[in-house]
Amino acid sequence: MLKIALPNKGRLADDVRELLADSGLDVRARSDRALTASLGGEFEAIFVRAQDIPEFVADGAAAAGITGWDLVCESERQLTQLLDLEFGACRLVVAAREGAGIASLDDVRGAPRVATVFPRLTRRFFESAGRVVTLVPVSGAAEIAPHLGIADIVVDLVSTGSTMRVNSLREIGTVMESSARLIAAPGPDGSVPPPLQELSDALESVIRARGKRYVMANVPRATLDRVRAVLPGLNGPTVIDLLNGGTHVAVHAVVPQCAIYRTISNLRALGAEGVLVTRIERLMP
Ligand code: AMP
Repeated sequence: MLKIALPNKGRLADDVRELLADSGLDVRARSDRALTASLGGEFEAIFVRAQDIPEFVADGAAAAGITGWDLVCESERQLTQLLDLEFGACRLVVAAREGAGIASLDDVRGAPRVATVFPRLTRRFFESAGRVVTLVPVSGAAEIAPHLGIADIVVDLVSTGSTMRVNSLREIGTVMESSARLIAAPGPDGSVPPPLQELSDALESVIRARGKRYVMANVPRATLDRVRAVLPGLNGPTVIDLLNGGTHVAVHAVVPQCAIYRTISNLRALGAEGVLVTRIERLMP
């Protein structure tokens, strides 16, 4: 059994469980408070703080883990990213008090005090910008620091931006972009153990399918050339004969979810009938 370190609570925990369940890897825990669980029968999940996951994986306590890329980079441990899971998207940004007359990093004078939960990333960011700063490490709620007079600026995560707005802070620079990642310790020859590659492939097929829909429609055979233009699919639409004397054919294709509305209108304009749109569970091109 390979151990996989998963966040025990917080923003990522629910999305991780949903992705695993959609991938056929149900988390079977003995109780809500269990620290370990069987994962799809093949892996053992261990539930720990998202911040600790890079250390656990780098030290070999777990074969792989799922956590935020910001936390992986902050850990400064040698870890390999197997897959971007695309949720938990956020940016680590520099922000200053609104009304402080600071619109960009160039407006920050001297050696500012920077409050942050990410001291290593912050130090590296300002070092590479050639700026001298004094770090004010905090374990949370960095947004309050400029208002308390203990820092001039903050480096903090932003997702929707509402926390910054509520706390009268203005973004003045970006340190990095982040999202949840599947990580592992690099193997001696850079190879990924087969079970971890299979896990990564299973999760990837579900993530790839999430933004796609499967469209089926019966279209007049004479319009096929024009149908190909509005229904490109992965390799062009699949075309299937119908037992109706040959006037119509069935076309099937994978379409980005964001294009469904337009695709249906275009197909209808070409005389399509019996349009069906379904979700896709997995997609392996
Ligand atoms: P928001 O108001 O949506 O911009 O979220 C900002 C707050 O949520 C800050 O306190 C951040 O520290 C936290 N936050 C946002 N995105 C994430 C994330 N992906 N992982 C962990 N914390 C986050």
